[in-house]
Amino acid sequence: MDRRKFSIVIFMILMVIQILTLGCGKKGKKKVKNEKVIDKTLIITIPNGGDLFATLEEHNYTNLDVIRNILSERVVATAVQQDIQVEIMAVDDSLKIEKCKINAFNGYFEINAVKSDTILYKVHAKKSILKGDSIFKVLGDFGMKTKNIGYYAWKMGEFVDATSIDIGDIMTVDYSVDTLNVKKFEKFSYQPDKTTIHEFYILGPRKLKYNMIELPFELKRRFLIGELTKEHASLDGAMATFGVIPYIRQQVNNAMQAQISFSTDARVGDKFEIFIEEKYVNGEQQPRGKVLYAQYSGRRVGKKTAYRFTDKAEASAFNGMYTYNGKRLVSNAVRTPLDRMHISSPFGYRIHPILGRKIFHHGIDLRGTRGTKVYAVSSGKVIKARDGHGGYGKEVRIKHSNGMITQYAHLSRISVRYGKRVHKGQIIGAVGSTGRSTGPHLHFGVKKNGRWVNPKTNLRMIGANKLKGNRLNLFRKEIQAYKNEMKELSTKPAVQDSLKAS
Ligand SMILES: [Zn+2]
Repeated sequence: MDRRKFSIVIFMILMVIQILTLGCGKKGKKKVKNEKVIDKTLIITIPNGGDLFATLEEHNYTNLDVIRNILSERVVATAVQQDIQVEIMAVDDSLKIEKCKINAFNGYFEINAVKSDTILYKVHAKKSILKGDSIFKVLGDFGMKTKNIGYYAWKMGEFVDATSIDIGDIMTVDYSVDTLNVKKFEKFSYQPDKTTIHEFYILGPRKLKYNMIELPFELKRRFLIGELTKEHASLDGAMATFGVIPYIRQQVNNAMQAQISFSTDARVGDKFEIFIEEKYVNGEQQPRGKVLYAQYSGRRVGKKTAYRFTDKAEASAFNGMYTYNGKRLVSNAVRTPLDRMHISSPFGYRIHPILGRKIFHHGIDLRGTRGTKVYAVSSGKVIKARDGHGGYGKEVRIKHSNGMITQYAHLSRISVRYGKRVHKGQIIGAVGSTGRSTGPHLHFGVKKNGRWVNPKTNLRMIGANKLKGNRLNLFRKEIQAYKNEMKELSTKPAVQDSLKAS
């Protein structure tokens, strides 16, 4: 009666036969005639530049249009930059693909036929973000509707810092394909590193369910003592001899450069101490980590120290390196417009969540609840402080002495007046959702020489110049904890090889 059911039975019987023959050790590639016999799993390697679909056609698979639809040519094209391996199991009489695993350079696709009256296939795809890619592009390549992607990306911003999305990050997409070749997206996920997976279950065109999976990792702390030598006459070079990764070295360099002029004052024999935290997953060191304490003492510079402050709130703009007295170790920095700097939508092209069109985003969107204090990032004169009734809603613009203009939009409240001077860190209003906005957030823009520029790359932003009150108390407790830990470790600190030898 049902042809599909009939073929399943045949399929299963033949699987048994297949297993039995394999069990007998007959593993040779048997040419099978057009009989009701199951082909065993076929593994094809498609060389770099080859065409996946053409290759499958050469092997006479019959349902290629379906596969083409499941994995659009766009998805496959970007994945085939090196040899790819295709593993296929098909019903031999029809050469209809039952199961297919495609292992490509930057993607992995698994397609499984489903025995149901409505669903043909289930697909699980994994793809890494390439240069010039974005989450929009990856989801779009899989055939998700632009309008929906715009909304999903917007929602994602609530959980994922959009500026952290980088080349090599992994995205997965799960969907089914029905008998009319229509895709139904079930889930997508974003994996920014080896330990975190952000999962988004699609419950409807305007409904996502979020789930975060944290995979186990290990944080290891090291206390290192070294000095500048003839061979390694810079702090950076000397730290590298301990195997400290560039990411952490950069943090130490930044904190120290705010206090020391290395180009004129560093000398061979100058000493340093660093207390660092490194991240491991399955014993493999990750390219991330942080410095907790650093000290440099030299003939010309005396003794300079830096300590890390970690605020209670996530994405706090106060996190960073400070002197013991709570002075921020960053030079030429402006204040952040909010105390928490979670970027939900970055500067540049994006799909507008309301308009659904691809437009240029002239600023960054910062997550914040209604009423969150908004600060002037630098001193200047208020050149706009009103509800413009345009897309920006209640908006403040400040002109600074260097000619730059900063913009704060969608405010719920404005607390400065047109023409007045404001100072760095002054409260100018509160986060809201006025104008064209889907929810409370701050749109922060920076204009330089008459053009909107990326605030992230054009401003060095810090929480504030000094830690005060509760934050300063917390900082002092953190310092004490570092000191205790270093004391324990310093009974046998790691010392440079060159020093050990002498
Ligand atoms: Zn915006």
